Formats: sequence, structure tokens, C-alpha cells
Amino acid sequence: MPLPSERSQALRQRAERLFPGGVNSPVRAFRAVGGDPPFVERAEGAYLWDADGNRYIDYVGSWGPMILGHAFPPAVEAVRQAAQRSASFGASTALEGDLAELVAAAFPSVEKLRFVSSGTEATMSAIRLARAFTSRKYVVKFEGCYHGHADGLLVKAGSGVATFGIPGSAGVPEETALFTLALPFNDAAAVEAAFVSHPDEIACIIVEPVVGNSGCIPPAAGYLEALRALTEKHGALLIFDEVMTGFRVALGGVQEHFGIRPDLTTLGKILGGGLPCGAFGGRAEIMDQLAPLGPVYQAGTLSGNPLAMAAGIATVGYLRDHREVVYPSLEKLSAALVEGVLAEAKKAGVPLTANRVGAMFTWFFTGEPVTDFASAAHSDTKRFAAFHRALLDAGVWLPPSQFEAAFLSTAHSEGDIEHTVRAAQHAFALSR
Ligand SMILES: *Cc1c(COP(=O)(O)O)cnc(C)c1O
Repeated sequence: MPLPSERSQALRQRAERLFPGGVNSPVRAFRAVGGDPPFVERAEGAYLWDADGNRYIDYVGSWGPMILGHAFPPAVEAVRQAAQRSASFGASTALEGDLAELVAAAFPSVEKLRFVSSGTEATMSAIRLARAFTSRKYVVKFEGCYHGHADGLLVKAGSGVATFGIPGSAGVPEETALFTLALPFNDAAAVEAAFVSHPDEIACIIVEPVVGNSGCIPPAAGYLEALRALTEKHGALLIFDEVMTGFRVALGGVQEHFGIRPDLTTLGKILGGGLPCGAFGGRAEIMDQLAPLGPVYQAGTLSGNPLAMAAGIATVGYLRDHREVVYPSLEKLSAALVEGVLAEAKKAGVPLTANRVGAMFTWFFTGEPVTDFASAAHSDTKRFAAFHRALLDAGVWLPPSQFEAAFLSTAHSEGDIEHTVRAAQHAFALSR
């Protein structure tokens, strides 16, 4: 049982005076699951401690970045050393090239790249570039995919937009979203139809190749191949938004896992090892359209920030050097966790569908398969909320929404998995 949450409560009251909803990013509020979010004081390895001294097994991992666990010592040391040399210069450093080489080696489709400070910046810049390169206006995205909060990309978006049931966003002129076509995920025929109804007008398809922002939804067999073939046939670019999946489902992301070569790739999250960092990259002839070489403008005061580069190099460098151990062991532990909870649900007669690709996964409270946003939306979100609350009380920190993926890190142990499966067993028993 958690300790009384007095300090968290005081911090929350202050935050609610200062920040809309008390938070600086909507999904951090526990609106979808009820209850109050504890304030975090520190984290190490697989564990978070809140301001009242309660410990939690963390399956959020800062929404993806902390694949090596919190306060990973080589990353902490690299950031400390970089900070001593000054936090930012606004001029080029060797660190940018060091991280870029790691990225290009892991993602052979990325011949050239540019660093930015968030996933949102990466996707909005990639789309501007795709439109310029193709001289076309339309962008195809998929229902329930989230590509950051740029105006044109919030149409039928996932993550917080889905969690709070917001239809796109207020403040986005209809005209801005006019050139965004939102189609169901895992439906190649819908994409084919869009190319027929908008001949020579579609600049690019942007996709989370394994969806994480409606909860975890893997691509159906042949679906990504179909997107690759259709974009090639119709002269559009294929953008894999691997902000979540890059370095997560494999070192080289979904494109390595499924063997597909997109034209452009966006990265973030793990790339910066928990510091603000993103990147977009791809074929050199496309990337060379960017200023100062080409006519597409894109810039950033803190882009390629030395602290973010240092954390990224330590994180991605470790993943590269230990990939033969890291990814198989993440796969094994994640399978044990996800299957363990699923088995308890079955025993308790709770309808549950588990989706997982490597160390990213979601337990959907529905008995039906979840293959797109519409089927994810069939989940019983009240039941999810009760499950979330019960696990939090048992010291297990899950994403506070049915429509978010959970993550495992290399710091999680078999004991953590066992504790979590037992907590789930108790939660299911309560819910009967
Ligand atoms: C998190 C995420 C983004 C946005 O990245 P931010 O750093 O939050 O701006 C974009 N695309 C995907 C797939 C993401 O998971």
C-alpha cells in the first residue's frame, strides 16, 4: 500500500495554479484513469520514487526513451562531462557527427539527417520536406497515429488526442487540415483508393510502422510492403515515424525488423536518452533540399544540443555494442510479462487482448483483436482505469491511458515481472 500522498498533493495543488490541468503535457494528468498523479522525485533503473517516498516499477520509461533504465550511469557521466564544457554553443560540435554516424549505421535508409529538439519538430519538418521534394500538397496519415502536435497532423490523432476524445484540435483552421487525409491503419485498399481519388497530389504517407499511440498495434502481414509499393508506384514519399519504435523494436527500428526501406525516417525519444532530441533523415537527394543547400527552411537554436548528443551517444552506443544481448533479453522478459498478465486475465474471465512487438506492448480490455484505432476504441476504458489504479496501488506504474503503449527496459528483472503479474492477478480478482 502506498504511503500517504501529502507532499504529492501539495505539489499538485501548486501545479494546478500554475499550469493548465497542472501539467506540461496532457497525458501526464490522470484524467483518463481518475485519481491524482503522484509527483516523481527520482528514478533509477526500473524504479520511480514519488515525492512521498513510494516506489513503483516503471513501465512508462519517460514514454519510451529509458530503454536502458533510469539514470543509466554511462549516460549520466556523459551528460555531466558535456555540461562542464558548456550546455550549448550555437555552433557545430564533433558530438553531432558521432551520434549521426551511430544513427546512419543503424538505419541504412538514413544517408543524411538533421537533428532537432523533439519528435514534433522532426515530423513537421519531414513533411515540409516531402511536400517540397514532390511539389505536392496532400499528406496521408492514419487514424490513431500520433506524429506530434503540428497543426496538420492532429486530424484523428492518437495519444492524448484519442485519450481525451478531442476531434483534432481547436485552433487549427479547417483549411490547414484540408490537405491531410486520415485513413484507417492496416487497410491497404484505403490507401490505394486515396491515390486514385487524388492522382499526383499526395506528397507522402506518414505512418507509425508499429503503432504505439493508440496502444500497441502491429502492422498486418504485407501492410508495410503495400505502403512501400503504392508510394513508389505513385511518386509519393514514405515516411516512417520511428520516434517511438526507433532503437526500441530493434536497433534499426521497424524498418530493420520488417526489412522495409522508407524514404524518410523521423526519430526521437531513445535517440536523446531522455534529453530533448529528435532527428529526421533519409535519402541524400531529399535531405539536400534543406537550407542552407536547398530552398526548404528549417532551423533550431538548440538543435544538436551537446547534452542531448552526449546522452544519445551513450545510449545508442551501448545499444549498438550490446544489441546481441539487449534485444533478445528484452523480447524474452516482455513476452513473460505480457503473457503472464494475459494468462491471469483468462483465469479470471476478464476479456483482454495483448498486443506486443518486442519491448512495447498494450493490454486492451476487449475480447476482440485490436488491429486499428476503431477496434482499439472498443476497449472498456473504465475497466482499464480500475486496473491502472489497482496496479498503481501495488507499486506498478503503467501509462495512464488505454491508448498508450507500455515499455520494458533492460533494468527490469524477473522479480519485477513476477510482482507485476501478481498485482494484475489481484486486480482481476477485484474486478469480478
Ligand atoms: C512521441 C511521438 C512523437 C512526438 O514527439 P515529441 O518529442 O513528444 O514531440 C511523434 N511521433 C511518435 C510516433 C511519437 O511516439
